[in-house]
Amino acid sequence: MKSLYWFRNDLRLSDNPGLCRYLQSEALLLVYIWPITRPWCNVNGMGPQRERFLLESLQALRDELAELGQDLLLVHGSPELILPRLIEEYSIDRVGASRTPGYYERTTVQRLRSRLTVPLALHETSTLLDEDRLSFELDALPPHFTPFHKRVKSLLIPEPIDAPGQLPPPPAAIFHPIRDTGVRPHTALPIRGGSQSGHRRLRRFVFEQRDILQYKQTRNCLDPLTGSSTLSPWLANGCLSVREIAAAIAHFEHTETENESTYWLRFELFWREFFHWRAYRDDISLFKLSTSQKHLHYCTFEPRSFARWCAGDTDFPLVNAIMQQLVATGWCSNRGRQIAASCLVNELQLDWRYGAAFFEKHLIDYDVACNYGNWQYLAGVGADPRGGRHFDLEKQTRTYDPEGTFTRKWQCERPKQPRFVTDAADWPINDTQGQDREET
Ligand SMILES: Cc1cc2nc3c(=O)[nH]c(=O)nc-3n(C[C@H](O)[C@H](O)[C@H](O)COP(=O)(O)OP(=O)(O)OC[C@H]3O[C@@H](n4cnc5c(N)ncnc54)[C@H](O)[C@@H]3O)c2cc1C
Repeated sequence: MKSLYWFRNDLRLSDNPGLCRYLQSEALLLVYIWPITRPWCNVNGMGPQRERFLLESLQALRDELAELGQDLLLVHGSPELILPRLIEEYSIDRVGASRTPGYYERTTVQRLRSRLTVPLALHETSTLLDEDRLSFELDALPPHFTPFHKRVKSLLIPEPIDAPGQLPPPPAAIFHPIRDTGVRPHTALPIRGGSQSGHRRLRRFVFEQRDILQYKQTRNCLDPLTGSSTLSPWLANGCLSVREIAAAIAHFEHTETENESTYWLRFELFWREFFHWRAYRDDISLFKLSTSQKHLHYCTFEPRSFARWCAGDTDFPLVNAIMQQLVATGWCSNRGRQIAASCLVNELQLDWRYGAAFFEKHLIDYDVACNYGNWQYLAGVGADPRGGRHFDLEKQTRTYDPEGTFTRKWQCERPKQPRFVTDAADWPINDTQGQDREET
């Protein structure tokens, strides 16, 4: 039997239960389809660091595949057009892919299925627990994190599985080289995509430097690699699996020691788990300005404020520094994301989705469920609409950048700018933008 495996957010060989289903094939065509980035909320395209990290992850996967006599076909276009063509060209009998959250990603699969003449199976590769291991149906998924966590925290997380030692050969396809964009990692975050560097970071954080033992105290640090684990870029692209991280934490706890920090790192993985299952459950609502009639959310839209926020040119030096860091490195800390998001929603009173779209463009760890889920949580809409979170930016600056070191590093001290004049024509807009995501 000839198979096609479509890599999505699972760019790895180790702990890839999807890929492992196809090891007995007579031939195996491995494909990656470059994500289509549609204009949405005044944002277009993929930022240079995100693109670089993804290309490096693909190249690293390809290098690993080459050692097993395999290759990766990187194609551009719509999956529902490309895959039927490949299936016909290479006489493929079945298709496998990882299951991913995200409304657009799922509707793409639905359209693809309707065009296929061979079976398409989706495999769980990106969560701690498979859907059938959850103790509830998705429809009954708790809307808040705490009850969700209570119900899942003691469930058995499957052990990661080893990378295959052998792979079936590819069909006689033409594999083109993966381009190099010429963009290099910023010196403030010198990391590269790919499983090897992801595993190295995991080993260092947990076993070698044992930074995991201080994680609870350091996780709010604004810089990468010194406070929080900074594993998210590899996790989001699937170079590392979340079960590999959970297994590393458990191994450390059994062989070395456990404390509230080791507990807390696992706790954060459950936040990721929560947002992933919410994204499956919430569907298109994940992209709505407000999701409940009770919490109707009106806001002004001042394009100049949005442009200034994106450029790191607001009246808040710490926010500016975070935005500069985001664009230059493709990453900012969880605390940084919360501060920048609170500024957009509360100080600038903009539609939260514009901020989420800008993050989507630039984050090297962009993950549809975590990004839109966290933005909703912060804006006080979505699954857990408990009024949102408004950060006191002066207090945040005193607490997290008391000496101004971070702000100076990104050269973000600047005088206050004059206020804009907003007239009645700018206000209010309502939730018509929510349709954009659906239609494109
Ligand atoms: C507005 C906003 C947007 C975000 N967008 C994304 C995104 O696109 N992709 C993404 O992976 N995370 C996102 N997050 C969550 C979080 O900020 C990042 O996961 C974290 O900063 C990554 O750094 P780290 O690996 O050092 O995290 P650590 O603190 O070391 O945590 C370890 C892992 O736990 C998970 N995690 C931690 N915090 C959260 C959280 N709040 N929600 C979900 N998972 C979490 C991540 O997988 C992370 O890698 C967002 C948060 C906010 C407030």
